[in-house]
Amino acid sequence: MTDGPSYGFDTLQIHAGARPDPATGARQTPIYQTTAYVFRDADHAAALFNLQEVGFIYSRLTNPTVAVLQERLATLEGGVGAVCCSSGHAAQIMALFPLMAPGRNVVVSTRLYGGTVTQFSQTIKRFGWSAKFVDFDDLDAVKAAIDDDTRAVFCESIANPGGYITDLRAVADVADGAGVPLIVDNTSATPYLCRPIEQGATLVVHSTTKYLTGNGTVTGGAIVDSGTFDWSASDKFPSLSDPEPAYHGLKFHETFGPLAFTFHSIAVGLRDLGMTMNPQGAHYTLMGIETLSLRMERHVENAVKIAEWLEGDDRVEFVTYAGLKSSPYYDRIKTVCPKGAGALFTFAVKGGYEACVKLVDSLEIFSHVANLGDTRSLIIHSASTTHRQLTPEQQEAAGAAPNVVRLSIGIEDADDLIADLDQALSKAAS
Ligand SMILES: *Cc1c(COP(=O)(O)O)cnc(C)c1O
Repeated sequence: MTDGPSYGFDTLQIHAGARPDPATGARQTPIYQTTAYVFRDADHAAALFNLQEVGFIYSRLTNPTVAVLQERLATLEGGVGAVCCSSGHAAQIMALFPLMAPGRNVVVSTRLYGGTVTQFSQTIKRFGWSAKFVDFDDLDAVKAAIDDDTRAVFCESIANPGGYITDLRAVADVADGAGVPLIVDNTSATPYLCRPIEQGATLVVHSTTKYLTGNGTVTGGAIVDSGTFDWSASDKFPSLSDPEPAYHGLKFHETFGPLAFTFHSIAVGLRDLGMTMNPQGAHYTLMGIETLSLRMERHVENAVKIAEWLEGDDRVEFVTYAGLKSSPYYDRIKTVCPKGAGALFTFAVKGGYEACVKLVDSLEIFSHVANLGDTRSLIIHSASTTHRQLTPEQQEAAGAAPNVVRLSIGIEDADDLIADLDQALSKAAS
């Protein structure tokens, strides 16, 4: 189909990037299970290797099945291009890779997925990069943390795990004022609930493992580029603005304009870091995205019902869901994620750590897993699992205190989920 800007989200989630297979007419996107592609002739091969022609060389860089997913994600997020990779964590490294260098830093929100806190506070140091953790509700603190070595600002739209919503427009304005890109992890919201590029983000990263695939089958990640950042406005981003020795001095920004980041991520990032998404994985994610809007609507509807029920229950200390009127972030829904605050939230159980462990072990429909964004309802006690590596202060800041459990509400019958929580809370209290 032609990607007319007039098509609605429900149409684009099924059709964007896909067309009947030119060789066979296959209606569904084939899984191109191949590592390499035959060159037409030696000149064609040379043009591809010089980046003078776009095409397929080797599946570490590009693959036709993965390319359909890339185009679909770019369309749904309102970006100019996207690069898929092997996981959400790979996407985060790939997003920072063209921007950072030894001695450079990224200013990040304290409210992040536990694995991201570990990646940013520990692992990236080995590249000579560092992260400065700041409360993103304090815009002056964000501004103050940005220094001459800062190359990006990073946050999540709807933050995992704590029912927090970032004021993306305000943070984007701060990043803009400092001449650095804002990177938004939009995993928990998906482009159906939140479109960060429209709110000023330069790059959007995803763990496609979660809602985009939606059924807990494959690990994957993606980076979507808005195409709006001027990489040549300062000398801060030489990988994109200066001559690239491995491509005969080609300058990515000068040559590819708004697609500079996307082309660099494929031609240098995937080529050298090798964090490639496989075509089978892309296929499962494409299948999932076809029903994204339908699932997200039900996820949100169920989450609101269950959060309201929990909030009214004596055995529960508090519920942090931005979709509740009692949430300090309720007012941000209108501007940041107008179709709802997602389906991920935490609640505190009276009785603390012990009661949480009993609750988790007593549930029958909810599965105790380190995952989220599945059709199935999931629960995890973050303090003993995903946020275990963090200090008590980091756990508290991330909304993962010892008396708190995180729910990822699925698309089952809400009444069944409430009944399951009810019986498990009774067991936890006894
Ligand atoms: C899961 C998750 C990640 C990491 O993604 P993987 O696919 O597991 O590597 C990053 N950010 C958020 C918000 C996540 O939920």
